[in-house]
Amino acid sequence: MATSCNIRVMCRFRPLNEREKALKENQTCVTFPDETQVIVSGQPFTFDRVFTPESTQKEVFESVKDTIHDVLLGYNGTLLAYGQTGSGKTFTMGSAAAESDYENVEQLGIIPRGNHLIFNSIAEESNGNAEFTIKCSYLEIYMENIQDLLNPKNNKQLKIRESKSQGIYVEGLAEEYVGSEEDIMELIGVGEASRSVAKTNMNQRSSRSHSILIIAIEQKSSDGSKKRGKLNLVDLAGSEKVSKTGAEGIVLEQAKKINQSLSLLGNCIHALTDSKREHIPFRDSKLTRLLQDSLGGNTKTTLLVTASPHFNNVDETISTLKFGARAK
Ligand code: ADP
Ligand code: MG
Repeated sequence: MATSCNIRVMCRFRPLNEREKALKENQTCVTFPDETQVIVSGQPFTFDRVFTPESTQKEVFESVKDTIHDVLLGYNGTLLAYGQTGSGKTFTMGSAAAESDYENVEQLGIIPRGNHLIFNSIAEESNGNAEFTIKCSYLEIYMENIQDLLNPKNNKQLKIRESKSQGIYVEGLAEEYVGSEEDIMELIGVGEASRSVAKTNMNQRSSRSHSILIIAIEQKSSDGSKKRGKLNLVDLAGSEKVSKTGAEGIVLEQAKKINQSLSLLGNCIHALTDSKREHIPFRDSKLTRLLQDSLGGNTKTTLLVTASPHFNNVDETISTLKFGARAK
């Protein structure tokens, strides 16, 4: 029987942006009664944690960093950012941190903070006799195809495989050894440069693909025993509905694929939280298949849904929060 597991769901509202502030009409449609509740246009939602537009990057990181500790102990962990384009997924994950962002340390998202924590913890642990090996991969899933962001010239059809020793892995995907925080951030820079992006009316540089940064940590103790943990940091494609983006042709095809893949993710997460479900439909999409050994079971999964507080986005916000609520 499948064991049900707890998937943590948190939501985060970004501040109004300049464009929204300039609009005359009724500006925000959200209120925050307490740290676990949000009311959108009269509709209440409860999550493990609700972050308001005033919440800081540090607060968000504090609430998810236990996952990183678990990965260092040999468990798998997954953090997923879900929301419409422009709602703050990339800001929250910190997956687009440019060199210049380091001048404003407060603005750094989960990835650079997580890297810092990983290397700090390792430095402390290594005082003992443990030996750590860290490998990083960075990929995107675009139109149900896996693309290697660290080796964009690799245009072979990358396939997902499973083995006893490695668990789920992508055959032929680049895996780079990293020895410092800077090494990882450099790889992210390489990956970002090669990401597929298409223009939509919503956002000029909206991402139409899921990006996944995988940090695999292996710890070898002095007695020769090994612990392996894998951290998946997932910046999902925008969840907005097709009609709103005014898409046609290839963009419409992309949007359909994205909506389908997100709803299949929702199905898996929902099935995982249901103790009576025996079958989890991981194989229905590349994303869920890839995350199969990092969702549920012994792993810690946090779904972070991001939303805009502006009245104009109320429909998308409600559908985002419903997606999050279904995962509980
Ligand atoms: P997404 O990745 O969901 O499309 P982004 O993370 O790119 O959205 O966010 C859109 C814009 O809003 C960016 O300019 C980003 O810096 C800003 N932003 C998002 N969330 C916050 C936040 N919590 N505080 C301040 N600025 C934010
Ligand atoms: Mg983004």
